Amino acid sequence: MRIKVISPDIVTYGAMVIGGVLEQEGYDTSISRVIEDTDADILILSLYSTQHLLDTRIKKAIRFQKERGGRCYVGGPVSADPSMVLGELSPDAVVVGEGEITISRLVLEGPSPDIPGIAYMKEGEMIVTGSSPPSPMTRPLPLIPPDIGDQNIRGANVYIETHRGCVGGCGFCQVPRYFGQEVRSRSIEDILTEVRAFKDAGVHRISISGGTGSLFASQYGRMNVPAFIQLLQGIAGVMGPKNLSSPDIRVDCITDEVLDAIRDYTIGWVFFGIESGSEGILKKMRKGATVDQVREAVKRCRMHGLKVAGSFIVGYPGETADDYQMTKDLIEELALDDVFVSVAEPIPGTPLADLVLSIPQEENPVYVPHTGEYQALGLSEAEARAFDLMLHADLHKPRFTMTDDRTFNLYLEEVRKQGSDILRSTEVLLRYS
Ligand code: SF4
Repeated sequence: MRIKVISPDIVTYGAMVIGGVLEQEGYDTSISRVIEDTDADILILSLYSTQHLLDTRIKKAIRFQKERGGRCYVGGPVSADPSMVLGELSPDAVVVGEGEITISRLVLEGPSPDIPGIAYMKEGEMIVTGSSPPSPMTRPLPLIPPDIGDQNIRGANVYIETHRGCVGGCGFCQVPRYFGQEVRSRSIEDILTEVRAFKDAGVHRISISGGTGSLFASQYGRMNVPAFIQLLQGIAGVMGPKNLSSPDIRVDCITDEVLDAIRDYTIGWVFFGIESGSEGILKKMRKGATVDQVREAVKRCRMHGLKVAGSFIVGYPGETADDYQMTKDLIEELALDDVFVSVAEPIPGTPLADLVLSIPQEENPVYVPHTGEYQALGLSEAEARAFDLMLHADLHKPRFTMTDDRTFNLYLEEVRKQGSDILRSTEVLLRYS
């Protein structure tokens, strides 16, 4: 049987793991980031964005597959709301949650009420067969596409998974809902075997994902610092420290030893999800960290010779002009080496999505027209704040950056895209609420 796994535009690590599981079971499996018609017996789409549910290329590939009598299954983070996936894309089934165990049975048996962790339509009714079993942390090698070395995700060819789950419960984030709040870690030996395989396949730069890197091997919410250091040391031994990043980290998950290890075994950057300078908004976001903890964490990173980047979310429902000003003030104060700005996106299955569904449109900054300084640009309030914050952050980086016309237009294009994508996602959410 021939199986094609497609992960649109970026081959995600999760898609490669599913490909590896199927290949190990003896199926003739291939993987690609190109969305195209296929002559495989089974098409598996690994989808990680709500935008994929509206993507005409994906709809066409599924239609083609079904018309020629092949089967099509969808999995990945979009499965948080299987009714949306079935309604928008009409695959034969959706793999809900972690798919490593479920996909094998689905491929072998086809959709059936006996397989836990799937959703499918039968005689006009949606059947959901409970939750998927958590996947074991030992697994076959991922199926690596031959062009992996050309892929670029925030500077890395691939983000590998060292553990699943996050002790945080941020209201906008899917990680604790998809993988749970208990951390399940892989063995260092397995991770290093995989890193060698990626290197052999042409990967130059690896990044560690998993919500918060330093939670690797943690138990009952307590960090296992020696294991994290050993992990970084091991991967750097294969790739070289200049080719490893361990970016995402919670401000309350650092120690001096963790920071020294990041400095010694990686490219030397830490990436904090700071989100807001307003305590009120951080509480609304369920961030579980305070602005003072952010200040302290940034200071400590600098003392350990690390560069610090921060991500911020604007346009969260309930964010007032004063809240937004506090975020601007914090950026000015911290003078971060890099800043990433996003408009709050209601990802299905998250508390933020529930919040967005519960408020009238006129209270959602994504729908409110901006009437201030950028009115002539025709932005929503959320887009205007994102645009303004990008410009503001450039002014307050340690290395002063002049915003020229090109950057101005890039930022404008970026916020318009974010705004329109989020409007489209919100419309889908509303349709299936
Ligand atoms: S700390 Fe990061 S991974 Fe964990 S819930 Fe918050 S945003 Fe998600």
